[in-house]
Amino acid sequence: MKTKINEIFSSIQGEGPVIGYKQLFIRFCGCNLNCAYCDTEFTTGQEFTPQELYTKISDEYDLNTFHSISLTGGEPLLSIEFLKEFLPLIKEQTKIYLETNATLNENLLKIKDYIDIVSADIKLETATGLNTFDKHEQFLKNCNGIETFAKIVFDENITDTEISRCCEIGKNTGIELVLQPKMIDNKMSITSEFCNEILDKFTNLYPNCRLIPQVHKFLNVR
Ligand code: SF4
Repeated sequence: MKTKINEIFSSIQGEGPVIGYKQLFIRFCGCNLNCAYCDTEFTTGQEFTPQELYTKISDEYDLNTFHSISLTGGEPLLSIEFLKEFLPLIKEQTKIYLETNATLNENLLKIKDYIDIVSADIKLETATGLNTFDKHEQFLKNCNGIETFAKIVFDENITDTEISRCCEIGKNTGIELVLQPKMIDNKMSITSEFCNEILDKFTNLYPNCRLIPQVHKFLNVR
């Protein structure tokens, strides 16, 4: 079967604990959420079979030079039938880093054995208009055995109730929470003081948290 790929590019990971590593990014088209802060174009693209994509990236890139391949989107787990065939082709040559909105639990379980690192979102209701906390918690529990962190994009609208629920998920799963201030036009949308205040609120409830802005936007790379 084919899936639509928006873009394939080499760049520097700009989010979370593996920040600064060189990755080959494969951006999948389509998403099942509609976040207010989404700044990613993921609707247009080219269709590939698993073998066609494998041949393309093998021909055009030296996979030994990358820390890992980042499956990103959109939401890569929407392309689950494609991934079930593609990941076995690539797995022996590189680590697989999955960037996901952490809502498609069943699909994760179908390819879990091929994933080395998971960057999972915890989406705030003030950003998506949806309460997806229970889905995120189950997803993070399903990541058991994989190196995983949870990313929380926030702005001035974050509420104490949301902070409390995120920390509860952290406690229930033992996963590190990475707070990421929302960016607008490559600049922080909130002040440093507000960042400190929010980090304090998180660490008072769950110490396994840190705040990391999107570094690739400061570097002006994709
Ligand atoms: S989950 Fe990610 S790709 Fe999908 S709408 Fe939200 S920010 Fe955009």
